[in-house]
Amino acid sequence: VVSLRDVHKSFGSLKVLDGVSFEVPRGEVMAIIGRSGSGKSTALRCIDRLETIESGEIIVCGHRVSDPKLPLRALRLDVGIVFQSYNLFPHLTIEENICLAPVTVKGKRRAEARETARRVLGQVGLGDKLDSYPEQLSGGQQQRAAIARSLAMEPQVMLFDEVTSALDPELTGEVLRVIEQLAAGGMTMVMVTHEMGFARRVADRIVFMHQGKVWETGPAGILDAPETAELRQFVGSGL
Ligand code: ATP
Ligand code: MG
Repeated sequence: VVSLRDVHKSFGSLKVLDGVSFEVPRGEVMAIIGRSGSGKSTALRCIDRLETIESGEIIVCGHRVSDPKLPLRALRLDVGIVFQSYNLFPHLTIEENICLAPVTVKGKRRAEARETARRVLGQVGLGDKLDSYPEQLSGGQQQRAAIARSLAMEPQVMLFDEVTSALDPELTGEVLRVIEQLAAGGMTMVMVTHEMGFARRVADRIVFMHQGKVWETGPAGILDAPETAELRQFVGSGL
């Protein structure tokens, strides 16, 4: 469903992606790990064309993302992305936050959007928070609401960029459990994470990025038996 082939990307003179290739088949979960600055977020953002690339090919759900002429609307309907910051609208209730895009972007009828909101909020364990405002929710609940908002658009692929790193440790578990349930439900996902235990448990494949390259990749077992000194060091450092 997601395929990157020899992707190159620079910011000015800084080479950030240096020939990145990987594939995520339908229903699989890919975890991207690596040191700060290794290009993880950039790789993820390229998948949703929040960044353009200089060369290589990116195909997502049949959309040729690397084609500058690709209509973004169709791509964005198929891809959901959740970041560290939840960006819920503070003046809207949780239900209104979730109904907004399905109504305005997809043209869903309000009643139908409400039904979807109820369903996805149930899915993330917030069935009782429809009428709450974001500020009345904990950080973990807000992040789960943000995930529900993405799910309401019924994407084919979900991208997560360190969705728990702004949360207190006691709140990360509830968010990770939601992602784990999505994985069990067969959602195709690419996630950047620092939660190594979680990556090991949930990911079908790991991509370890180093200096803008896919340094090592394979099933979660590579974390137990790294082939490169860099991954060995990364796993050992407990990051
Ligand atoms: P972290 O773990 O800290 O989130 P990362 O692996 O996600 O790191 P990226 O955010 O992909 O790293 O950034 C890779 C490199 O590109 C870094 O050196 C960063 O400073 C640089 N970079 C990222 N975005 C931009 C930008 N918009 N303009 C210039 N440089 C950028
Ligand atoms: Mg990042």
